[in-house]
Amino acid sequence: MASIGFIGLGNMGLPMASNLQNAGYNVSGFDVTEIARKAAHSAGLGLATSNADAALSADIVVLMLPNGTIAIDVATEILPKMTPGSLLIDCSTIDVESAHEVHRLAAEAGILCLDAPVSGGVGGASAGTLTFMVGGTKEAFAVGQPLFDMMGQKAVHCGDGGAGQAAKICNNMLLGISMIGTCEAFALADRLGLSQSALFDVVSTSSGACWSVNAYCPVPGVGPKSPADNGYKPGFAAALMLKDLNLAQQAASTTDAATPLGSHAKNLYQQMVDAGLGETDFSGMIEFLTNAKDDRV
Ligand code: NAD
Repeated sequence: MASIGFIGLGNMGLPMASNLQNAGYNVSGFDVTEIARKAAHSAGLGLATSNADAALSADIVVLMLPNGTIAIDVATEILPKMTPGSLLIDCSTIDVESAHEVHRLAAEAGILCLDAPVSGGVGGASAGTLTFMVGGTKEAFAVGQPLFDMMGQKAVHCGDGGAGQAAKICNNMLLGISMIGTCEAFALADRLGLSQSALFDVVSTSSGACWSVNAYCPVPGVGPKSPADNGYKPGFAAALMLKDLNLAQQAASTTDAATPLGSHAKNLYQQMVDAGLGETDFSGMIEFLTNAKDDRV
């Protein structure tokens, strides 16, 4: 089995690395924070002494880091240590321009590279049911595929380098917009005296159907179980939705794309986070909207 270096052992990285180790891969993980290394040690994960040590002699190195600046820094640090012809997979959610830079640095070092952000959250990372959106060459995708199969349920090869990040921010921009639309519809129904379960029964089988209604309804007791039934404990935190909406706006501005609703969604999630609700699930937008004064939104 291939040996894997895994860098960034946070909420997502640790369960992903553990799934690889449980599948029989020889995993050597590292994280800058001692608290993450301690948690990884308690989980029985093999640990390296530094990022470079994790990358040294690995067939494949996986990154699961907070942002593009850190991903570029870590790539710059480890690429010279990696074996030529080995593979770097960046699973972090980062801006498209930084993803291109990581691909450029890898090509310069003779290392195969994939950007492969994920959908599915911490639950999906633990259960090994993530969806990977992947950018890079077909050759690199073929090398990475067995890992995606172990850490997830599906990997879509979206195109060349950066295409995975592009798919991720487009998907999450749509999700942010559709969740706000869903919250508005249910809040309006309530004001109109319409039962929210009646609205769910209609919309979930009508033209307004979407994942935010059908699978993740923001109203407690309505539809399948969702964070709304658990006090809006994430799930997918509003602060992470805001991060992705900011990345989408950054990309829209770079490419001069018209995304007026994406921009508005970003502003609303910014207000929710500013109100101290960053750690609330993003479907908690319904409570924020319901409680907000008209002039605030
Ligand atoms: P996290 O903050 O829990 O983990 C990131 C880890 O990277 C931290 O443990 C941090 O110490 C480590 N790190 C930072 N700089 C480092 C460096 N220079 N070298 C080594 N390690 C370093 O974040 P997370 O929730 O695990 O998310 C990771 C990525 O996955 C992010 O890009 C996030 O946007 C994305 N993501 C998260 C979720 C989610 O639900 N949490 C869902 C989809 C995608």
